[in-house]
Amino acid sequence: MSLSFPETLSLFDRYVIPNYKRYPVSLVRGEGPYVWDSEGNRYIDFFPGWGCNLFGHCPPKVVEAVRQQLGRLIHVPNSWYTEEQGLWAKLLSERSFGGKAFFCNSGTEANEAAIKLTRLHTDPGKYKIITFMRSFHGRTMGSVSATGQAKYHEGIEPLLPGFVYAPYGDLDAVKEAVDSETAGIMVEPIQGEGGVRIPPEGFLQGLRDLCDENNMLLIFDEVQTGCGRTGNWFAYQHFGVEPDVMTLAKTICSGIAAGAMLTKPEIAPSLRPGMHAATFGGNPIAAAAGIATIKMVEEEGLLEKATQMGAHFRTRLEEMRREIDIIRDIRIVGAMIGIELQVEGGKFVQGCMEEKLLINCTQGNVIRLLPASNTPLELVDTALDILESQLRKG
Ligand SMILES: *Cc1c(COP(=O)(O)O)cnc(C)c1O
Repeated sequence: MSLSFPETLSLFDRYVIPNYKRYPVSLVRGEGPYVWDSEGNRYIDFFPGWGCNLFGHCPPKVVEAVRQQLGRLIHVPNSWYTEEQGLWAKLLSERSFGGKAFFCNSGTEANEAAIKLTRLHTDPGKYKIITFMRSFHGRTMGSVSATGQAKYHEGIEPLLPGFVYAPYGDLDAVKEAVDSETAGIMVEPIQGEGGVRIPPEGFLQGLRDLCDENNMLLIFDEVQTGCGRTGNWFAYQHFGVEPDVMTLAKTICSGIAAGAMLTKPEIAPSLRPGMHAATFGGNPIAAAAGIATIKMVEEEGLLEKATQMGAHFRTRLEEMRREIDIIRDIRIVGAMIGIELQVEGGKFVQGCMEEKLLINCTQGNVIRLLPASNTPLELVDTALDILESQLRKG
């Protein structure tokens, strides 16, 4: 395959539903922090795979594990056991809160499972789930109903009933929203798409206490923050607050499609046989990629590397903030970086792309970077030089 960009574009114009805003670039190959387009340009990718590609593109250990698995067993449904799925669940469980896993194929699906489990597990009559403004939980009807952003609801109402949106970080508002029908609270321990927002001190613990007092489940959506992105295995570990249910996707397989929900062992039986399923969930390819991802994080010390990377970003970005007026706030946890601007950020994404650096802007004015956690710090500097020269243009 070696189509020119105009040839690929004409295929999309004719045959692909235009539900995404796409940059006029067709990507053909990736390696570590770099990705190449059909015209031979090389880019530094600081938003690889929307944050899925934890080690950038095509990490050799994951590629090799998947290659071997492909030749052994591609897919068998969940009416049988596979050792790969069992081992993957064990590795995730041991690094989190000792729970049990349900596997699926995406973040939104993991959250659907969490919504169903929450309604199944709690007392009859309880069905409401408190979620947060500027949250993002996915696009299927349950998860999009959980998402506290009106722009994603326009035209598709009625939503799934039972979601109540509270301001992120406002514990009093959450307390007020709880009633006898509330089954749980679903929250990103650090909001991602909402603008890399870190909760105020005590907020997550406050949610934990509320759930304990009212027989509700606490669900952490770690689809974006999980599996080492923030310098801990899971973002909740920064705050010392354990959830009852945790959802994962994006990062867990280094870019192979997969999702998972973990829940405490005593809650797990509430998802009874026949109540939930996913044809491809926990398939051997995803499991092989998931196992290889966890091993790679440990063998290469990538939790420490993500932490070091965060510190490096902080030093550089604080310097930039002193000199560049439009930088309003900097929010960093490991390899998850948000730079809030006083102006719209789209033109900086465009400007960086022209300088062969790929970044993201969310919520209109927050530059979001989710670089591979093994990106060499010299390359971080190269990328930040490009970003800085764009931001200096104002
Ligand atoms: C991306 C994301 C989702 C949705 O994941 P999909 O795989 O696109 O369905 C859910 N929650 C969070 C926090 C996310 O960042």
